[in-house]
Formats: sequence, structure tokens, C-alpha cells
Amino acid sequence: MTDAYTTIIGLEVHVQLATSSKLFCRCSTRFGAEPNTQTCPVCIGMPGTLPVMNREALRLSLKTASALHCEIAPFTKWDRKQYYYPDLPKNYQISQYDLPLSLNGYLEISDPKDQFEPKRIRILRAHLEEDAGKSLHDEVAGKGDSLIDLNRTGTPLLEIVSEPDLRSSAEAKAFLTELKLLLTYLGVSDCNMQEGSLRVDANVNLHIDTPQGSIATPIIEIKNMNSFRAVERALDYEARRQYGVWQETRQKLGDAPKQTRGWDDAAGVTRGQRSKEESSDYRYFPDPDLVPVRVTPDEIEQVGSSLGELPAALRNRLQTDFGLSYYDADVLVNQGRAVVDYFLDVARRCGDAKAAANWVTQDILRTLKDQNSTIEQLPIRSVALAELVTKVKSGEVPSARAREV
Ligand SMILES: [Zn+2]
Repeated sequence: MTDAYTTIIGLEVHVQLATSSKLFCRCSTRFGAEPNTQTCPVCIGMPGTLPVMNREALRLSLKTASALHCEIAPFTKWDRKQYYYPDLPKNYQISQYDLPLSLNGYLEISDPKDQFEPKRIRILRAHLEEDAGKSLHDEVAGKGDSLIDLNRTGTPLLEIVSEPDLRSSAEAKAFLTELKLLLTYLGVSDCNMQEGSLRVDANVNLHIDTPQGSIATPIIEIKNMNSFRAVERALDYEARRQYGVWQETRQKLGDAPKQTRGWDDAAGVTRGQRSKEESSDYRYFPDPDLVPVRVTPDEIEQVGSSLGELPAALRNRLQTDFGLSYYDADVLVNQGRAVVDYFLDVARRCGDAKAAANWVTQDILRTLKDQNSTIEQLPIRSVALAELVTKVKSGEVPSARAREV
């Protein structure tokens, strides 16, 4: 007999905010510079230096919080999260503990392939913190040395924590895809995973139905996932692994300590790393060098009105005002605002939104993919495509010939 189980997943996403300078000093955040060339006494933690908050980082965070329907705290403060690690020269990270800048929001996800029903994933909190540096191991083959690059130290991160509302790896991937799209539309981050601008950790466990009632397996935090595909694979693997362990032991495991496991993408497995610290291990306390942050209702109002049209609203408009299917609207919106604007222009000029959508989602997107170019680089301007679509409609140009044109 096999037991049914439910997979319970929560995600923690670290997003690097698109500011030109760091969170508490004026060093550049540009990616790819020579190691340790973008540092100053503040971000390398020299005694006697004083941090000053970057207002732009706060503004980008408030924008994101507002788009995620979060409550924005009128009063928020900075805390020191203390731990010792070579890439953390101050021996503490400036973060936010008990008074985060925003909480209690949500993000709606849906699946054009209908693997799951549209649902609302609650956001527990979104808070600002600074990044640590980077340890480099074995950069020179055979030397086996370790080096530290502090260029990234102090870069502003927004940590977005979801409630454990996700029930499958497909839902987790949909959440990440929608969040990334939202952040891109807002212009708050470039979300480049290869450069570390977007990092994901996942908390996962199982609720197993047994004759004695539902049994929870210990919560495992998975780290070291470098793509959304890796997140999906790691979650699937971890659910199977936890179920296997439970089948072997048949023990009540819910009280076991939380553990951290790292994803090994090449081997396709997670490996145990360490017992998860409790937050009391970090000895959080308010940072005495930084003044608390007050956000006025006017500022919240201003941020709310500066969001522009977001992906969910845009999908709706394409369906209701232009009669597109959810699938076509989704394909267009996922390509970014420039492709949507291109479509809108073609549709307006030729007066046939469905034909315009067909041309853009099929021929134009295929051309962009083949040429590895962006819509801005495409020589076929929207005016020209609209004219062509109009001529096909009037029968002046047969559609087979139109594709050649
Ligand atoms: Zn600095």
C-alpha cells in the first residue's frame, strides 16, 4: 500500500536591486569588475565608519512590495544578523528582523498548460538587507587555494519570503517565473541568475497521510540551485528522498531539527550540509549606527501610482480589449513590455488583433529567436507588419507569399 502525501513548499528569493551604488556606501555595484576594486572602508567594515542608507534601494523595495500587494510598514529599522564567515568582514550582516519594511502580500500564479488551478501564493514578508562577499575556491587549477572578493559586499538585496503555499515543483517554477516577470516589468532588478542577481532557496517537506493521521517530515532547506530548472529538479528529488526515508523508518519525524541540503546539479541529488541555525543563534539586535526608516502615507501612495501596468493586468487587458486567448496573452506578456507594445501598435494599425497576435507570437518571435535579437533590433517595424497584415486581409497578398515578404 502506498501512502498519499502532499508536498509543502515555501521559497525565499534574494533579488539584487538595480541601484548603481551599494546599500550603505557609494561603491559601485557593477558586475564583473576586478576583485576587490569596488570596496571602501564602510563596506569592508573598518572600525569607526558609518553606514548611510541608499534611498533608491528603499524606493525600489517599496515599489516591489506595493506590486506584491504587501502592507508597507510606516516604521522599519535595521538589525545586525551576527555570524562569522570569511566573506563577511564586519562579522554581521545588516538586515531587518522583527520590523520588516513590508509583509502580508500575495502573488497570483497560473499555468497556461493547466497543470494546476490558478492560485494566490501569500508573501510572508519582503525586507531589505546587504549582500555578503564571495569566496572563490580553487580558481587556479592545482593550487587548492581560497580567495575572497568583497566587490559584492553591501550590495542591496530584497529578500522575498513566501508562505508555504506551493504544492508542487511546477507551482514553484510558475511562482518564480511570474515573480521574475513582475520584477522585470517594475525595472527593480535585472534578475540575472548567472550573475547572482536572483537567488532562490526552497523549504520543503511532506505531509504524509497515514492511518494514524497526517505526519510531517522535517523541513529541509535546499540551497545552491542556479536555475529555475534546477529548483524544479531539486524539489522533485527532495520530495522523493523524504518519502523514501519515511518509508524506511516509519517514524514520526516532525520534531527533528531543520536541515540544510545543497543541490548537486550534475549528480541530480541533494546532499546534507549542516543543521539549520535557529534565528536565536544569530543574536539579532538593532543596528545602533543606522536611524530607523519612516515611510509616510504620501510616499506609499506615490509608489503605488508609479508602478505602471503590471503583467497580470496586461494579460487581462489583452484578453478583454483585444479578444486574445489566455495562452496568446501570456506568450506576449512573457516576452516583455517592448514586444507587447509592438503587438499593440500592429493591432491598432491593421484593426485585427487576432491576426496581429498570430503574426507576432509565431513569425516575429521565431525570427527573433533565429536571429538571437531583440524586438528593437528587428528591421520589420510595426508599421510595415501592420501594412502586410492589412494586405493579406484584403486579399491583395496571399498569406503564403506574405511570410516570404
Ligand atoms: Zn563601499
